[in-house]
Amino acid sequence: MKIAIIGGGLAGLTAAAYLSDSPDTEGIVFERSPQLGGRAFTYEKSGFTLNYGAHAVYGIDRHTLQFMEQELGLKFQSKQVDKRKVMYAKHGSLTPAPLDFVNIMKTDVLTAMEKVRFVAEIAAVIANIHQLKHYPTLGDYLNRSHASSDVKELWEHLVSSNFFITPEDARKVTGEAIAEYYHNLFLSQKPVNYILGSWATITNQLVEKIDCNEHWNIAVKEPVESITKVNGKFILNTKTREALEFDEVIFAMPVQQVAKLLESTPWSSNMEPYKNNTSTEVLVYDIGFSKVVARPFHYISDMDNKLFISDVSATDHTVVPEGGQLLQGIAYLNDDFADEELRKQYLDNKTQQMEVLFDTYYPDWREHTAVKRVSKKAMVSSVKNIHSNKLLPNRVQDVPFLFCGDGCTGKGELAERAFSSGRAVAQMLLKEKARTKALIH
Ligand SMILES: Cc1cc2nc3c(=O)[nH]c(=O)nc-3n(C[C@H](O)[C@H](O)[C@H](O)COP(=O)(O)OP(=O)(O)OC[C@H]3O[C@@H](n4cnc5c(N)ncnc54)[C@H](O)[C@@H]3O)c2cc1C
Repeated sequence: MKIAIIGGGLAGLTAAAYLSDSPDTEGIVFERSPQLGGRAFTYEKSGFTLNYGAHAVYGIDRHTLQFMEQELGLKFQSKQVDKRKVMYAKHGSLTPAPLDFVNIMKTDVLTAMEKVRFVAEIAAVIANIHQLKHYPTLGDYLNRSHASSDVKELWEHLVSSNFFITPEDARKVTGEAIAEYYHNLFLSQKPVNYILGSWATITNQLVEKIDCNEHWNIAVKEPVESITKVNGKFILNTKTREALEFDEVIFAMPVQQVAKLLESTPWSSNMEPYKNNTSTEVLVYDIGFSKVVARPFHYISDMDNKLFISDVSATDHTVVPEGGQLLQGIAYLNDDFADEELRKQYLDNKTQQMEVLFDTYYPDWREHTAVKRVSKKAMVSSVKNIHSNKLLPNRVQDVPFLFCGDGCTGKGELAERAFSSGRAVAQMLLKEKARTKALIH
């Protein structure tokens, strides 16, 4: 079975690592960029390890990486973010984030009565019996709830920060998605962990695995440009090669890019329900310091401006040169602008707000900045988790391909969905292959 995998991000590499583990397969992973990893791409600069996206793993003890560790023999270490050092800033003052029962009791964002009520709501979500999951969206739930405006604001803020979206969008997240997310997170003993050494720790091992099978190749700087089906075989044209023949094709890229590649093919209309999905975009502001400028906390979320700063190196010391510090600032973005000029002004304003947050908690940061990277349009999730969007299934009726990636159906959110859907499509193909083989014999 000769397989083409289009996309060398977490999903594509995961699918290839599983498939190349099977002796009956051969294949090529096509990646259009010069490097692998996609949005989890990691690079070194002046001794700092910078991720294009962050490498936090949510609920690692219940995460797909646990299966991958066993099934693929991956080796990695992780370290938990210290919950006691996670703070919320509201109207200029800091308070522990209400992430667990201890912090809920300590936080100042709620009054004593509201704390009791909030704990009860969260306890109900944990038990998975909460009515939240029966509401179409968080907005519907909050509109009908008699909770105080502070409790409502906290729900919006939690959903904003966990799904990387604005409070307006948080109200559009389905009750089911929220109930499932918090059910999983609150049951986890390890809610937020960093993979030591960043995503490269995982991607390098996936690549090593693929390289172990001589019938598999990874082709970088080779975008796939067109695809057709002739006599039961798939014919791919890439930027550098023509008429490459495959038995199976796995798309491992953002849904919108899949729809574009399949435009003007017989499968274009099947992509209609997915092609207008909106993605989650954020502003990312990474700064590396030559020394530890200040370490008042490990994560601070600015509730007023909807920004947060993670002191990545407080948890993962491997990403900085000795004595250094790496911060990652992220701002949730609105995507609704009348024109480009307004969008530009909004982004400039967000950048300024981020710098004010750095000024407040990391005074003198400018003097010690050794590396800096600002991206005003980073795609966190290819399909924003709101009710009007639709995840792409791993198989679509009447379409002969498989699909994986963080915009496809799978377990978890973000990177976990990329890993879990990559693993799922590989297992589906291997199972189908085994079934066909059994029928023949
Ligand atoms: C700022 C930021 C912070 C994040 N933080 C976290 C976090 O803390 N925790 C977490 O779990 N997740 C996080 N994420 C999300 C995580 O990075 C993504 O969910 C994950 O990397 C998506 O992987 P993927 O394989 O689905 O897609 P991608 O990484 O987008 O991979 C798709 C690949 O396909 C390639 N491609 C596209 N078209 C073609 C073509 N025609 N031919 C060949 N190749 C093609 C692309 O170049 C790309 O490499 C974050 C993301 C960002 C941007």
